[in-house]
Amino acid sequence: MRPYEELIVPIPDYPKPGIVFQDLTPAFADGAAFAAMVDDLAAHFADAGITKVVGAEARGFIVGAAVALRLGAGFVPCRKPGKLPRTTLRESYALEYGTDVLEIHADALTPDDVVLIVDDLVATGGTTTAMVRLIRASGAHLAGLGFVMELAFLSPRAVIAEETDAEVFSLIAVE
Ligand code: AMP
Repeated sequence: MRPYEELIVPIPDYPKPGIVFQDLTPAFADGAAFAAMVDDLAAHFADAGITKVVGAEARGFIVGAAVALRLGAGFVPCRKPGKLPRTTLRESYALEYGTDVLEIHADALTPDDVVLIVDDLVATGGTTTAMVRLIRASGAHLAGLGFVMELAFLSPRAVIAEETDAEVFSLIAVE
């Protein structure tokens, strides 16, 4: 088992009954485990010519910024509405109940950018879909999507495949 894998703690019935929340914070807190996680994600995309990593708040910032540093790429945040100070592009996405919105600075990506989406975990694929659409609206090229953990039983790959044919890679799949 890889060092970060055994440090991820499943929390039953959080934040509500029936959900198993995967707590990655102990894996972030262990220096060797965090480095291995970031190295394993970055190594997979090392030859993809990535110029920007895009991540969504909050845990996408933790993993995404570290992967960007390893790849020698920049980091571009996607944020909840009203958090970014300049002109933004907006995209709404489905939650279990209702919708939410993500924003990206309108000038953060250019058509010359080769982008990697990074997040700690992909569940339904809703958050990721919003990021894919924001990157498309920016005119940049999406080269791949990297996750520490994929809740494969929720079939996020099928949802993502409806939006992009970019490669999806996850370190740990929960079947
Ligand atoms: P989704 O949009 O359904 O793919 O959810 C992805 C986002 O919600 C990720 O940024 C995760 O941080 C968070 N998330 C969703 N489900 C879980 C879970 N079971 N455990 C931990 N985080 C989760």
